[in-house]
Amino acid sequence: MRKPILIGNWKMNGSLQANQALMVRLLPRLRLFRRAIDLAICPPSPYLFQVRDLLGYTGVMLGAQNAAGYVSGAYTGENSATMLQEMGCRYVIVGHSERRVLFHESSQEVAARFRAVLSAGMTPILCVGESLTERESGLTSVVIEQQLQAVVDEVGIAAFANAVVAYEPVWAIGTGQTATPEQISEVHQKIRKFVAGSAPEASIDLGQELRIVYGGSVKQANAYDIFSLADVDGGLIGGASLHADEFGAIAGALADASGVTGEVSAI
Ligand code: PEP
Repeated sequence: MRKPILIGNWKMNGSLQANQALMVRLLPRLRLFRRAIDLAICPPSPYLFQVRDLLGYTGVMLGAQNAAGYVSGAYTGENSATMLQEMGCRYVIVGHSERRVLFHESSQEVAARFRAVLSAGMTPILCVGESLTERESGLTSVVIEQQLQAVVDEVGIAAFANAVVAYEPVWAIGTGQTATPEQISEVHQKIRKFVAGSAPEASIDLGQELRIVYGGSVKQANAYDIFSLADVDGGLIGGASLHADEFGAIAGALADASGVTGEVSAI
């Protein structure tokens, strides 16, 4: 049984004041769904401490947006996975397309970051996805398999038992253009098949156990339809996670789509 998960990626947005205001409005909405679905917020690193304190005992988990592939040393500007773990992070996004495209992180580098997150006892959220040109050239599967294979080569397929994969078509991120249900289903099924096909025979059915979330312009208006798809286990939400009403409604859509409605717990 795959527990649905909703992750908010604040990207490089926020301030002490804005974060406080957002969380005060958001947490009462999220707490309605915290037993039905897993929830995580990934603020920029300077705010991890603040957000950790604001999350308190709500059950909403803390995540980070990236982690170094190195343990420690002369890597100015990087945060080690151990440091993030010490801050209270449970999840770390790796391989976000903004890192791959804008900061030229290769799939091998992403794989090293994935390894570091696992080694520090946290769950990597591995982002994979194709650009518009790659999709239009019929290369979607090739690109995604290459991104997954780099991680398999680094840590082995069994490591996916402790990971989340986020399918994020690059052309859908922050553009308002969402992939169609057919496009999403097709890629999610292929990811499951790839993972199942890479697993040694004796291992559990990793492909079926793996949580695969979708990301790319998810909003209240389209969330339920996306989350109702059989192979979609939740969402990685960028822009909409900065709005309490919107993110709260997306969490509600995920709980509804997973068959859990209404208030299931109070703090
Ligand atoms: C993201 O940042 O991972 C993302 C999916 O962004 P958005 O929801 O804004 O498209």
